[in-house]
Amino acid sequence: MENLEFLPTSAPSLRERSRELEVSEVTVPEFQLYLDALIRKMIEARGVGLASPQIGRNIRAVVVQPEPTDDPLVLINPVITKKSDALLESEEGCFSVPGTYGLVKRHKKVTVEALNRHGRRIEFEAKNFPAFVVQHEIDHLDGILFIDKAEKTVELDEKGNVKKRVK
Ligand code: ZN
Repeated sequence: MENLEFLPTSAPSLRERSRELEVSEVTVPEFQLYLDALIRKMIEARGVGLASPQIGRNIRAVVVQPEPTDDPLVLINPVITKKSDALLESEEGCFSVPGTYGLVKRHKKVTVEALNRHGRRIEFEAKNFPAFVVQHEIDHLDGILFIDKAEKTVELDEKGNVKKRVK
């Protein structure tokens, strides 16, 4: 598998709706290798989540690992089936918008249905940080970036100092 690279913020495909996958596409060895490469990329980049369109494949596949002690979780065709009315402010950044951070209101709790990497249906509930991560990654599948929803964003330089308040 070739090295996966993040698309730049300006890439039009980051703004597209990604397509659903068939179970028969998920279970083939080539795709399993692709999922492994996505997981490796997320871990190398020290991320908590990664969506396939971020590296240029517009399919509904994401990987998440909210805590380093969690096993990386693959979600295929994920759908939020229930969400709390309660919202919390989530501090976010994104590999697709390097150097920018912002506050986004997210649902405190969500129920998610998806296929796992073996094409089997799973359902789970997430709250707080893991719920924010899942919502952020699913947004990518619909062409939405966190900067679209953020109320305040800042650009930081390499040392972590504020360069610019964007809004
Ligand atoms: Zn992102």
